[in-house]
Amino acid sequence: MRIEVVAVGTELLLGQIVDTNSAWLGGQLAAAGIDSHFHQAVGDNLGRIVLALRTALARSDGVIVCGGLGPTHDDITREAVAAVMNVELVRDESQVERIRAMFETRGRSMPENNLRQAEVPLGATLIPQVLGTAPGLVCPLGNKVLYVLPGVPYEMTEMFTRAVLPDLVDRAASQGSPAVIASRVIRTWGMSESGLAEALAPRVAAHETEAGHAGSSVTMAFLASGMEGIKVRVTAKAPTLQAAGDLLDAEEAEVRALVGHAVFGVDEETMESVVGDLLVRMGLGLGVAESLTGGLVASRLVGVPGASRWLRGSVVAYDATVKQKLLAVPPGPVVTAEAARAMALGARLALGADVGLSLTGVAGPDPDEGQPPGTVFVGLAMPGASAVPGEAGGVSSGGVSSGGVDLGVEVLELRLPGDRERVRQYAATSALDLLRRRLQARAGGG
Ligand code: ATP
Ligand code: MG
Repeated sequence: MRIEVVAVGTELLLGQIVDTNSAWLGGQLAAAGIDSHFHQAVGDNLGRIVLALRTALARSDGVIVCGGLGPTHDDITREAVAAVMNVELVRDESQVERIRAMFETRGRSMPENNLRQAEVPLGATLIPQVLGTAPGLVCPLGNKVLYVLPGVPYEMTEMFTRAVLPDLVDRAASQGSPAVIASRVIRTWGMSESGLAEALAPRVAAHETEAGHAGSSVTMAFLASGMEGIKVRVTAKAPTLQAAGDLLDAEEAEVRALVGHAVFGVDEETMESVVGDLLVRMGLGLGVAESLTGGLVASRLVGVPGASRWLRGSVVAYDATVKQKLLAVPPGPVVTAEAARAMALGARLALGADVGLSLTGVAGPDPDEGQPPGTVFVGLAMPGASAVPGEAGGVSSGGVSSGGVDLGVEVLELRLPGDRERVRQYAATSALDLLRRRLQARAGGG
C-alpha cells in the first residue's frame, strides 16, 4: 500500500514555515509499514492543488492532504477535492451548528466565512473535529482514498491518529502482506561521506541481491549532518516488528564490523550523551579547559540530563594570562601541543576531576601565533591510560605522574576546514570524540 502526502500552503513554498506535517506523517506511515514514495508541497492555488492531487492519485493507492481547510478565501482545499472527485460541495447543517456553538461558548458570533468549513464534497465522510473548527474528510475515489486533514499541526496529528491511521491499517491488511518498516540511525564521526560509502559498499551490494527475499528488505542511506557527523540510516521492511528489529540488529553488527571505530552511537544518542554514559559507567569525573570553543564543549555536556554526576566543570581560559593563572600553563605561545597538554592537566587539577580535556587553537579568520585558522590542539589527561602513540594526528603522548596517579596525557593536532563557527563546532565534537574513543577503549567496548 502506497500513500502520498500533499501539503497545501503557499507559506511552505516561500520557506516561511517548515513542512513538519509531512515529516511527521512520513514517520507515522513508515512505522505502520505503509510505503510513501512521494511527498508534494503545493501553494494555495485551485488549479495546482487539483493537479497535485490528480498526480498523487495516479501513482499511489491513497493520498493524505493537509492544510487549506480554514475559513478564509485562500483556504481552497475543499474546492480542489470536490473538483477531483467531480462532485458538488454541500453544506452540512450539523457542522454549521457545531461551529456556531464553538463561537458562542467563547462569547462571539460566528463570522459568515466559517460557513465554508461546514461544506463537504458529496460522497465524503466527515472526520469530526475535536480541537478546532474544520472537520476532516475521508473521500472515496474508486478503490483509492483521499484523506483531508487540517494544517494546524496538533489538529492534524490528533485526527490522523484517531481516524486516518486505523482506517489505513485496515485497508493495508485487506490488501494482504502487512509489513512493518523500521529504521535505525548509526552515527559516525571521523570518516568522510565517500570513505564511509566505500567501506560499506559490500553491504549495499548485499542488500541489492537480497532485496525482496521472504518479504523482507534492508536499505542503507548516508546523511551528512555537519557537526553531528555522518549518519548511516538503515531501514528494514519485514512482516513483523520483531523481524524488522532483528534485521536492524544484524545490519548494525555488520556496519560496526566494517567501520566500528567511527561509530559513536545510534538513534537519539549524541557524542556528549555517549561520553556521559561512559564516564558514569567508569565512575570518572571530567574537567574541561576551553580556549577557542569558549564553553561550547561544556554547553553540550551540560545539555545531557544527569551531567552533574560526571561533569565537574569547564574553565573558559581565552586570554593567555588566564591560561597561566587558572591552569598553570607556562608562559609562551598557547597554540601549541605543550599548551594543550598543560591545559588538560590544569583543568584536572583546578576542577578536581579524574579526566582533563582541553582545546586550544585558531578559530580564524586571521592566523594567530603564525598558525593558520583551523589549527587546533586537543589535550587529554586520563588516569591509568597510557596514550596510544603513533595514531594519525597525535603529535605527542606520554605518561606523567601526578599526586601518585599514573596519568596518560596525549595531544591531538587537527587542521579543521571552514569558517570560525565551523572550526569551533568541529573542534568541540573532535575533542569529545577523542575522549569517547579513549573511554571506550578502556571500558573494553572497542
Ligand atoms: P486553519 O483552520 O487554521 O486555517 P488550515 O487547515 O487552513 O487551518 P492552514 O491555513 O494551511 O491550515 O495552516 C494553518 C497553520 O498550520 C499554518 O499557519 C501553519 O502554522 C500550520 N501548518 C500548515 N501546514 C503545515 C505543514 N505542512 N507543516 C507545518 N505546519 C503547518
Ligand atoms: Mg488556513
